[in-house]
Amino acid sequence: MALIVQKYGGTSVGSPERIKNVARKVEKFRAQGHQVVVVVSAMSGETNRLIALTKEVATNPSPRELDVVVSTGEQVTIGLLCMALEDIGVPAKSYTGGQVKILTDSLHTKARILNIDEAPIRKDLDEGKVVVVAGFQGVDEHGSITTLGRGGSDTTGVALAAALKADECQIYTDVDGVYTTDPRIVPEARKLDTITFEEMLEMASLGSKVLQIRSVEFAGKYKVKLRVLSSFEEGGEGTLITVEEDTNMEQPVISGIAFARDEAKLTVVGAPDKPGIAYQILGPVAEANIDVDMIIQNVGHDGTTDFSFTVARGDLAKAVKVLEGVQEHIGARAIESDNTMCKVSIVGVGMRSHPGVASKMFRTLAEEGINIQMISTSEIKISVAIDEKYLELAVRVLHKAFGLDAQA
Ligand code: ADP
Ligand code: ASP
Ligand code: MG
Repeated sequence: MALIVQKYGGTSVGSPERIKNVARKVEKFRAQGHQVVVVVSAMSGETNRLIALTKEVATNPSPRELDVVVSTGEQVTIGLLCMALEDIGVPAKSYTGGQVKILTDSLHTKARILNIDEAPIRKDLDEGKVVVVAGFQGVDEHGSITTLGRGGSDTTGVALAAALKADECQIYTDVDGVYTTDPRIVPEARKLDTITFEEMLEMASLGSKVLQIRSVEFAGKYKVKLRVLSSFEEGGEGTLITVEEDTNMEQPVISGIAFARDEAKLTVVGAPDKPGIAYQILGPVAEANIDVDMIIQNVGHDGTTDFSFTVARGDLAKAVKVLEGVQEHIGARAIESDNTMCKVSIVGVGMRSHPGVASKMFRTLAEEGINIQMISTSEIKISVAIDEKYLELAVRVLHKAFGLDAQA
């Protein structure tokens, strides 16, 4: 007998029929003698609908009340799934994040899980029940409802698996595993049987939304056996996220390609070229809680320099405002912004031992006439910022150039 945590995403619980399908899947595992804890997302589109509603009543809703509203989607699906389970004779009990309880910090809309009380879940499991927990939500020390950021149900699943020392955490979604890149963009993308935590972490942080980045961090830290599978197709092994590189096989240099659409670039033009200028520009940006991604400071001429960086597009207006304040203060010539950027990244642990990966990437993009505006690298990834109109093309040609296309 094993203890399994299964997480079903929005599409997988997107209609009453699909919820009944999930109930049947859960019942199958239980019939094999396993204990099952299920985490569910809101029905597909529901969280977006709730966010849109909040925008209709307020221009700048308080994060606390936002969480009160957007967390409701998951409360609906836990109840519906328990009903569907009981309808086919499986005893089940639902819990909201606050009821479990999943204690988080108070950073509304992007809270972090601090602790999970697994005692009530264990008791229910021992009584033969399937436990169904609402993903994406928790409660802070003041009793306020919090949410974990978009895609946060993955993290609820992995955190529960860690707390319960589950044998496996299975993330059921609308694709049958982790692919070399988003199969919706590149039909030739290949499913990976395994991918290392390190690579998955990079892929997630560089925009592959198949797993929320925090869920991967959690799984790595607490050694949770994590697998991504299809909720629609039966019998597949999905993709296992592994600690070790697979040394038995000749590994490709690049394992995957990630991309992020919603990037924006800001440039402080003609900033004085002197010590402390990066801090004077980026300090206030950080204070405004804006995450900065890629940074470039150009070589100075005549005592001035151009300083560029990228932020998430949603933060652009706020960042421009902050920089306008900085501009006066430091005496820069102008602030320029560009909200048509995207970021494409190649990821692979094989990069460590293979030189020439960057030049191959740049050559491939050059051959298509794609201009690279910014570059950033780490040991196992290279990212470029390019015009968003080239996103699909860039991903496709890189996928092919690095030998990732499935054989026809
Ligand atoms: P869920 O609602 O189940 O959480 P998501 O939409 O959050 O599902 O994540 C699954 C989606 O992630 C897929 O439909 C796919 O389009 C996208 N995706 C992006 N990159 C990848 C990748 N490398 N492998 C598989 N899917 C990916
Ligand atoms: N429902 C939430 C979202 O759409 C959480 C999740 O699906 O993981 O972001
Ligand atoms: Mg998701």
